[in-house]
Amino acid sequence: MKKDITRNFTSERSEAYIALGANLGRREETLREALRLLNEHTEIEVLRASDVYETDPVGYADQPAFLNMAAAVATSLKPQALLGVLQEIENRLGRVRDIRFGPRTADLDLLWMDGLAISTEELTLPHPRMHERFFVLVPLDDIVPQSEPSGLRALIDDSLIELGAASGIRAFSGPLFP
Ligand code: AMP
Repeated sequence: MKKDITRNFTSERSEAYIALGANLGRREETLREALRLLNEHTEIEVLRASDVYETDPVGYADQPAFLNMAAAVATSLKPQALLGVLQEIENRLGRVRDIRFGPRTADLDLLWMDGLAISTEELTLPHPRMHERFFVLVPLDDIVPQSEPSGLRALIDDSLIELGAASGIRAFSGPLFP
């Protein structure tokens, strides 16, 4: 059997879904770099990336429009460790953390991991606000197959029906990965 020596998947692999956003500086470059850094990690493989969408800011409105996308990854990391990697990438890309829901160079959220339910101070899974945000649901809709085994497809379909007509979100570009 051919051995994969480039990646270090020692334990079982999970499939995780990540939301990426950027609204300061070179937004597209930031997202591309975030995907590159994720895929460069020895225990993370980027499987699919959604189209990129431009979205009006939610919550704190006095800030530039965001670019948002979602990615599916395979990983042997535990959820907390994966969240740590996302936060390292945010920091590396120079996130500004002053205002909650405010401007940020890069924002990476862990949305879903094999349907796991986790509630700790650092990590809530599924992401508690994912079902109410077009900027999360619309990109996810691009990359979650009908056959997704842990119930994410139904959550997206039900949430999109519940929210009604999409607003504040526009197509921006095709996938930035591969
Ligand atoms: P935010 O500034 O909105 O990106 O929130 C970041 C904070 O939310 C961090 O302190 C994380 O520990 C916490 N958090 C809880 N659950 C999640 C999650 N599923 N994905 C990302 N951050 C999370």
